[in-house]
Amino acid sequence: MSDPAESQARRRFLKLAVVGAATAPIAAAVLPRLGFAADLPHLDPNDATAKALHYTEDAKTAASNPSFKAGSDCANCQFYQGKAGDQYGPCMLFPGKAVHSTGWCASWAKKA
Ligand code: SF4
Repeated sequence: MSDPAESQARRRFLKLAVVGAATAPIAAAVLPRLGFAADLPHLDPNDATAKALHYTEDAKTAASNPSFKAGSDCANCQFYQGKAGDQYGPCMLFPGKAVHSTGWCASWAKKA
């Protein structure tokens, strides 16, 4: 006869092993992307698309733009994918580049 505590411990171990095996491929797919986001080159404000959209690294300098809304910046834009507190983060409109969290461009849209 087996010890009930030992059986429970074995069952718990098996459950964790199954969960670990199931989540390993997801972690392998997501973790490199997180590392990649931190390593993205910063968007050059002189980039042709950045210029066309009046991108600036400092939203305060965009106040005279007719599209500018007070308080708007990359950090509160729906296209910004950086984490709260990050200085730079990816932007869906500039794939492969990181924009400044206090930046702004004419495509700004309020984060939902
Ligand atoms: S789309 Fe949004 S996050 Fe991207 S550069 Fe413009 S304001 Fe910043």
